[in-house]
Amino acid sequence: MTGLISLTTLGELKSHGYRLFGHCGRLSCGRGRELDIDNLIKRYGANYSIIGDTRIKRALVCTGCGHKGGSLTIAGPNLPKP
Ligand SMILES: [Zn+2]
Repeated sequence: MTGLISLTTLGELKSHGYRLFGHCGRLSCGRGRELDIDNLIKRYGANYSIIGDTRIKRALVCTGCGHKGGSLTIAGPNLPKP
């Protein structure tokens, strides 16, 4: 179990250069966009755990279809957008 880093909180994601994407909960839409981690930290705090999060997911509003609620995806700093 070496080489693993903890990616539990918003602050940890940011400090490791990871990005957070929100995806529309409506299957027929499937639109996704990158979320502003700085804004999320301002709103929920750097110690807010994204594991088991419901608040961020519920607050997601799709810019395409207006659907409320979605899912989160973590993307590594060197990976292409999902
Ligand atoms: Zn949508």
